[in-house]
Amino acid sequence: MAGFDYDLFVIGAGSGGVRASRVAAAHGARVAVAEEYRVGGTCVIRGCVPKKLLVYGAHFAEDLADARRFGWDVPQCAFDWKTLRDNVLAEVDRLEGAYGDTLANHKVELIRERAVLTGPNEIRLAGGRTVTARIILIATGATPVVPSFPGAEHGITSNEAFHLDSVPKRVVIAGAGYIANEFAGIFHQFGAHVTLVNRSDVILRGYDETIRDRLLTISMMKGIDYRFHVRFDRIEKREGGGLTVHMEGCDAIEADTVMYAIGRKPNTEGLGLDTAGVEVDDKGAVVVDADNKSTCDSVYAVGDVTNRVQLTPVAIREGQAFADTLFGDKPTRVDYENIPSAVFSHPPLAGVGMTEGQARNRLGSVRTYLSDFRPMKNVLAGRNERALYKLVVNAETDEVVGLHMIGPDAPEILQAAAIAVKAKLKKADFDQVVALHPTMAEELVLMR
Ligand code: NDP
Repeated sequence: MAGFDYDLFVIGAGSGGVRASRVAAAHGARVAVAEEYRVGGTCVIRGCVPKKLLVYGAHFAEDLADARRFGWDVPQCAFDWKTLRDNVLAEVDRLEGAYGDTLANHKVELIRERAVLTGPNEIRLAGGRTVTARIILIATGATPVVPSFPGAEHGITSNEAFHLDSVPKRVVIAGAGYIANEFAGIFHQFGAHVTLVNRSDVILRGYDETIRDRLLTISMMKGIDYRFHVRFDRIEKREGGGLTVHMEGCDAIEADTVMYAIGRKPNTEGLGLDTAGVEVDDKGAVVVDADNKSTCDSVYAVGDVTNRVQLTPVAIREGQAFADTLFGDKPTRVDYENIPSAVFSHPPLAGVGMTEGQARNRLGSVRTYLSDFRPMKNVLAGRNERALYKLVVNAETDEVVGLHMIGPDAPEILQAAAIAVKAKLKKADFDQVVALHPTMAEELVLMR
């Protein structure tokens, strides 16, 4: 051990890297973490956190309108993008500082430089210094995929969306996954005309079909446009800054901003992984075993760079399991079953466990329960937007194997209900619980 500069060298101070660093250090390891950009990674700097704050900001558009129906005299309100943007970016700065403090408090050395591997136990820093470590952890995350076609450089990704000078009037979003649907809601609430353009006719692949259909219906009712089975051909920049998006499968669309949300690719390019014999797959993801170990015995990887489940809480769990296993003498593996997830669209949706389709394929005999209702608040607000909850039950065992929801606060409600699904509770257990009235969540125990 004494032969190495560090017990653990982490490349990337995002969710997974920071958790692994501080836990390993708490277990007594000498740890350094290298970060070429900002501490906190995608989630804190240009993902979950600033996005959620924009979602909150966007929701006021509806809340202010609804307030009038609840008796409030709301004058004509104007929205100022720069105020929200700057407040959100200031909060990101604050959180970045807090992450830095956490590392310092745990005596993790933070090296603000790009680091690349030069061997199984050796790292070269951008400043020219070479250091050694018994264990190296790759936690470099992922980056938005930018397509290549003529004029593609005129588009932005979610990275840039947080820094826009103004809210564009017309936005074309490529993709129909998480980021596309979340930003469609954000831009729409801020007054933009939004068109989602996708290569297939599926939005949010992986979520339950009934829930996805409901989001599509509500989004279209709000005025968000969708184009399916379309491929980008080229983007032309007009005098004055406007863009014409030419596509195969639909007419050209005029836009002020084109945003790509077509997936995220692992950050492994130029990392020197080959110098340590670290294998990557065809998407560039580090190939790891159940203990996060790569094909090199001294190199491990966690988080989006492994392209298993690209979610912050999963990266954090992987970082924790890695550190506990290697430095805490506490072998731990992440359980990937029944991971709850949510899309912060308008309205949001959330799910855990098997979709109805998956359950029918895997289990054969399935019962489903649906609650399709107009939340009380929407009724008084005169908002014709219905929520939808679905329970998927194994008909043989009565176990609730999936829960899927769309409607106000769906992610908040689902987090608690996911405990029941994870604990493999039965439909009869749900039925035993007395409803908490009047709430939306009570629907979970009233479905018959
Ligand atoms: P997603 O994987 O969610 O969606 C990608 C979309 O782009 C799909 O509609 C897909 O179409 C389409 N697509 C994929 N590849 C191409 C291609 N080569 N050309 C054209 N279209 C393509 O990716 P996002 O970028 O929205 O988000 C990346 C990841 O980040 C998510 O998967 C998620 O794990 C994470 N994330 C999580 C959030 C949350 O937890 N709330 C929020 C934001 C991101 P099709 O389905 O038809 O193949």
